[in-house]
Amino acid sequence: MEFDAVIVGIGGMGSAAAWQLARRGRRVLGLERFDIPHALGSSHGVTRIIRLPYYEHPAYVPLLRRAFELWREIERIAGEELLVVTGSIDAGPEGGGLFHGALASARLHHLPHEVLTGSAVNDRFPGYRLPARVRAVFQPEGGFIGSERAIVAHVRAAQAAGADIRARERVLGWEAPGGGAVEVTTDKGRYAAANLILTAGAWMGELAAPLRTLAVPERQVLAWLQPRRPELFAPDRFPVFNLEVEEGRHYGLPVYQVPGFKFGRYHHRGETAPADAIRRDIDAEDERLLRQFGERYFPDGCGASMALRPCVFTNTPDEHFIVDRHPEHPQVILASPCSGHGYKFCSVVGEILADLAAEGATRHDISLFRLDRPALAERPPPRGSPAG
Ligand SMILES: Cc1cc2nc3c(=O)[nH]c(=O)nc-3n(C[C@H](O)[C@H](O)[C@H](O)COP(=O)(O)OP(=O)(O)OC[C@H]3O[C@@H](n4cnc5c(N)ncnc54)[C@H](O)[C@@H]3O)c2cc1C
Repeated sequence: MEFDAVIVGIGGMGSAAAWQLARRGRRVLGLERFDIPHALGSSHGVTRIIRLPYYEHPAYVPLLRRAFELWREIERIAGEELLVVTGSIDAGPEGGGLFHGALASARLHHLPHEVLTGSAVNDRFPGYRLPARVRAVFQPEGGFIGSERAIVAHVRAAQAAGADIRARERVLGWEAPGGGAVEVTTDKGRYAAANLILTAGAWMGELAAPLRTLAVPERQVLAWLQPRRPELFAPDRFPVFNLEVEEGRHYGLPVYQVPGFKFGRYHHRGETAPADAIRRDIDAEDERLLRQFGERYFPDGCGASMALRPCVFTNTPDEHFIVDRHPEHPQVILASPCSGHGYKFCSVVGEILADLAAEGATRHDISLFRLDRPALAERPPPRGSPAG
């Protein structure tokens, strides 16, 4: 067999998996259809939030603790800062899912945290202008990861450990002809491997039939606005946030490396499409929607527009990840950790994928991400089915 594992998609997850497998001495081929990194998938836009009091489900917290350790490890290997600590704010109405879920996770996992009113957040972090009735969980260890630089760091570490990584090579299909092996066909060649790891982001449904209606790409837009008072939006004075308000659920980060306070709205305008058909232009309504939110809750952050960029979420019906073996071909491992909150887990997902491929099992609890969980069988995909 030519390779122990072929990894399809060298974005956030695939780059981490390549490093984790190569450092264990496995023969790895990593294939990426675009550049490494690039701005057509889910991991671009300079930064991604990492936060511990996980309102989505407390089962993510142990994975996050390991993710932090692995981010620090790759940082040491790369010799550059990839994870910047700012603290995190998870805020919303007292009875709402975001605040309540964050508090429940913080308490269950004994995370250091404080519960603050909206006014207390504003006093402490004057870039914020939250309504007084908002309740917030402040957690001091949260922050952000330099997402594109982390992909480069993982790829360089993987290459140093012997991985063969190739960009501009598109996987067209794969077969499992029997005997446990996998054959992968690209626009440049054919390869045989013992394991296939699919980390194709928004294109997962095209490469794995079981995910066709379960991993739905959705257009997002990120905004960077020039702060009117830049000193309030620096990483040492502005914690990353998730905020549930009447305009929807939003997230934001301090100014870092590019001019502009960065924020976005989850499920921006609910536009789903196959990955290659996702609309990449930005229109006036995108800007209006984001500015309306920014002006209300972060007015000192919302001067002139610096950049608006499209990005893609890949949503599952219950917004939890899919990380599992292919139901018919166990040597094929599927990873769709997105629904708009996956990046922070790249480091630990890479370890999990390497565990599954190289050791046959993982010590991490990934039962929440099973493909046969009832929520995936019972509920329709969110916001309409993919168009193809
Ligand atoms: C606007 C936005 C904001 C977000 N904010 C956060 C955040 O703050 N915190 C957080 O934790 N998460 C966040 N997320 C989610 C997070 O970014 C994603 O979960 C994560 O990037 C997914 O990584 P991935 O490796 O699955 O996808 P990608 O990084 O997109 O990698 C998939 C790769 O597969 C390649 N590929 C696809 N098909 C093929 C093929 N046939 N052949 C070869 N290569 C192929 C693609 O080109 C791509 O490079 C955000 C996402 C978006 C869009």
